[in-house]
Amino acid sequence: MKTLLLLFLLTCNNLCITTISTDTVYICDSSGAKKYHLRQNCKGLQNCQQKIIKITLDQATRRGRTLCGYEK
Ligand SMILES: [Zn+2]
Repeated sequence: MKTLLLLFLLTCNNLCITTISTDTVYICDSSGAKKYHLRQNCKGLQNCQQKIIKITLDQATRRGRTLCGYEK
C-alpha cells in the first residue's frame, strides 16, 4: 500500500499532491465499525475489541467510514 501511494505521488504534480489527503486517522479493525477517529485515545475507540489500525483519511473514507461523533 505504501509503495502504491508513493508511486502515485511520484507520477503526480504538486497541484495533485495538495488534493490528496494524507492525514492519518485511526480505525477499529472490526467489520462492525463504521467510524474513523482522529485520535488514538478517542472515547469511541475504547470499545474496540479488535486491533486499532492507523490508516490515511483517504483509505478510511474509501472503506465507507465516517467521522466519529466524539471528534466534533
Ligand atoms: Zn472517535
